[in-house]
Amino acid sequence: MNTNMLKHHALDPDFNKADRPEPKNAADSDSPIFVIHQHDASTLHFDFRLEIDNRLVSWVIPKGPSTDPEDKRLAIQTEDHPMQYAAFEGLIPEGEYGAGAVIVWDHGRFLNQSEKDGNKRTLQEALEDGHIRVWLEGSKLRGGYSLVHTGFRGEDENWLLIKEDDEAADARRNPVSTEPRSPISDKTLDDVRSALED
Ligand code: MN
Repeated sequence: MNTNMLKHHALDPDFNKADRPEPKNAADSDSPIFVIHQHDASTLHFDFRLEIDNRLVSWVIPKGPSTDPEDKRLAIQTEDHPMQYAAFEGLIPEGEYGAGAVIVWDHGRFLNQSEKDGNKRTLQEALEDGHIRVWLEGSKLRGGYSLVHTGFRGEDENWLLIKEDDEAADARRNPVSTEPRSPISDKTLDDVRSALED
């Protein structure tokens, strides 16, 4: 974008509105939820969870999600969690599986955009296909994401989480490092840890 364009846009009060595509897929209150926990267990990681048929289907993302379509983030499918776990923040006690601090790093609703051979697929079908496409409406993450199973079906748990190249894609953002606070409690992982030490 050159300087003249910037000036022109700054002077045009309708520019931003006109330039921004309508959120054609904005998730409403009937849509399923997603949550991304940040979890400081034996290693710091993110847990990405999608509501599919009344449970939270879950993946560990060691590096966390990216807003850059050039990044492919390893996502290792783990055990499903109950829906009630979506709002969990706090400390998993020593001696229990996953001991360590947990915050909700992002959450919101999402839309299923999964297809196969041009036909719409339910989330459960897409999970079994090994290719889930979602449109996230979170506090930090927005827009299209693909989860792609990289192994032959059922042989391993490795998937890739990839941002789709849409108007919410942004290679310059790095919310994993610049936006550490929970959108529900405003806490960081450090806040959760230090609250326990008091
Ligand atoms: Mn975890």
